[in-house]
Amino acid sequence: MRIEAAVSRDASPYPVIETLELESPRAGEVLVRIVASGICHTDLRVHSGRGPGTPRPVVLGHEGAGIVEEVGAGVTSLVRGDHVVLSGSSCGVCPSCARNFPSYCQEMLPRNFGGSRMDGTTALSQKGERIFGQFFGQSSFARYAIASERTAVKVPPDAPLELLGPLGCGILTGAGAVINSLAVRAGATLAVFGTGGVGLAAVMAARLVGAVRIIAVDVRPERLALARELGATDTIDAAAGDAGQAVRKLTGYGVDFSLNTTPVPQVFTQALDCLTMRGTAAFVTSPVGEWQPAMFAMLAGGRKLQGVLGGDAAPQFFIPLLVDYHRQGRFPLERLIRFYPFADIARAFRDMEHGETIKPVLQME
Ligand SMILES: [Zn+2]
Ligand SMILES: [Zn+2]
Repeated sequence: MRIEAAVSRDASPYPVIETLELESPRAGEVLVRIVASGICHTDLRVHSGRGPGTPRPVVLGHEGAGIVEEVGAGVTSLVRGDHVVLSGSSCGVCPSCARNFPSYCQEMLPRNFGGSRMDGTTALSQKGERIFGQFFGQSSFARYAIASERTAVKVPPDAPLELLGPLGCGILTGAGAVINSLAVRAGATLAVFGTGGVGLAAVMAARLVGAVRIIAVDVRPERLALARELGATDTIDAAAGDAGQAVRKLTGYGVDFSLNTTPVPQVFTQALDCLTMRGTAAFVTSPVGEWQPAMFAMLAGGRKLQGVLGGDAAPQFFIPLLVDYHRQGRFPLERLIRFYPFADIARAFRDMEHGETIKPVLQME
């Protein structure tokens, strides 16, 4: 079928909408009519060539939500008409997948960033020229996408599909880091560095689980104000001095947990510095440039540094859970989102780059 999709090519500063051909779903795959797709910083990074070697031309997008239009042979858990949120691709059989930690699938990089299926084929083409896709098992900057059955997570038909795409990556990451990776519980203290989509999802999740102090750190006053509305008990202006010391000052002995959502090396230092004894500093992206953790402080304080991908979540369980919390009004995801028509993808990219929009969501219909 012919579809419209936003293609990332070498010369273009933003993805450009073009007409492509999309294959029918193969065995184990579904065709999804994309209703809306979030944009994540990983899309920006890969578009600008800073990703882990994704080939071009490619269709990016990995926070798609839509409706199943057609199912391939052997698909048993989905039927035409199902509402789905698309999450990452994983093999289903390696030790991480078997333990239900698909974000650490042994094939994570080729499956999500490789630009094709594992057999090297791609579902997209243009006048016979191969267009790479299968980005996070979906390539959702398009009106239609092919996803594997494992990637598509069924959600209730009365849930607001246009809001739910970001549950596939950014929101899953922030909420999962708090609920799964750090297992923050009632009475715990947490500092969140960076209040973008991931950080604010973490703040909302920390309120959900009953953390007693939720300290949001950022340089943007309007984001800190929003963090307060979403559950932060304290906020720190990171431009006003050393935020790690400011967290210690607020709490006396430091916090049990920190979550760093930024790639800034100094913030990695602050996120470790602000921990109490035996605290854990989680991070979701690696530092740009050189960074050395203070090993003696980690040793002498029994402190841990913990990498987190995909919020340590099993999307088939965790996404419907977040939909439930949202439906109850306990996880007000819509506060982070600004909608853009699909045709305005360049503006949405620009607004995210400049920090004007926390979570842009493209509406395909
Ligand atoms: Zn696997
Ligand atoms: Zn993402």
